[in-house]
Amino acid sequence: MKNKTKEIIAVGSIALDSIETINGSKNNLIGGSATFFSIAASLQTKVRVVGIVGKDFPVEGWNLFSSKNIDVKNILIEDGATFRWGGKYSDDYSTRETLFTELGVFEDFKPSIHKDDQSTPLVFLGNIQPSLQLAVSKLMRSSEYIVTDTMNLWIDLFPDQLKQVLSISTILLINHEEAEQYTGQNKIDEAANILLSSGPQVVVIKKGSEGAYLASDKHRITIPVFPIDKVIDPTGAGDTFAGGFMGYLSEVEKPDFVEAVIRGSALASFCVEGFGIEALSKATQNDLKERVKFIKNSIVQEVK
Ligand code: AMP
Repeated sequence: MKNKTKEIIAVGSIALDSIETINGSKNNLIGGSATFFSIAASLQTKVRVVGIVGKDFPVEGWNLFSSKNIDVKNILIEDGATFRWGGKYSDDYSTRETLFTELGVFEDFKPSIHKDDQSTPLVFLGNIQPSLQLAVSKLMRSSEYIVTDTMNLWIDLFPDQLKQVLSISTILLINHEEAEQYTGQNKIDEAANILLSSGPQVVVIKKGSEGAYLASDKHRITIPVFPIDKVIDPTGAGDTFAGGFMGYLSEVEKPDFVEAVIRGSALASFCVEGFGIEALSKATQNDLKERVKFIKNSIVQEVK
């Protein structure tokens, strides 16, 4: 990790995931949006996670956080069960079905952040209920960037709260299907215009293996992915993308958002190579540099 990087505070789910794919099934994997995010960003800077787990959260999960130097003092440990989520992927990985969502201790989650951490400059509002994202944003003082992620469930259930979250966000990271669902617009540039007019200055619309579309007053560009021969489990790729994106923000004063998207794409490519956090947690800074270089070269080739 480089010296003097800016720190990140990240709220999201900490989960036990059960995943079914054509390449096999696994139960009770350490997962959740905050987990994938923090492992990815920890390659680049210090991350402080805000979240909640039950007393059943396995020691293996705590060991993982400490091995990545992730700060866990804002994670509440309550009586009851850790959030559990089950998902099943179609054989070509193009769609995912949620098999179950068991909120457990999440049901009564009231985020709290230690006073010293409330001035952390970079804030990630990971995929959780929008009212909790808002609660966290209200606890923070003088943040430089508020980066937000969401999912179809919240667009369906709480569109008004989500609108408020967007209005206080500087950057929005969202899937293509979700962008279409929220804006009612299937043309990506039009969807981006609507999202940009709702608060964020930068919008990244992720298109899975087709790359990510970056929109701001300066940019309109699709950045390709690092190609993976055999996808094993795409769970958490979006959160990992966010971790790479914000890891880049932590290193620079004036970010080039194309670089941030490249970093996000490169890191997400590790995530899909194994079940849960398995492959991501083994990625090194050198591996990351190589994939960043590869993506940069492929952009140059496209421009030629
Ligand atoms: P992604 O594949 O990027 O959408 O992220 C998958 C992660 O999101 C999994 O590890 C799940 O535990 C977590 N997740 C799924 N549904 C929810 C939900 N309703 N609230 C919070 N986290 C969720």
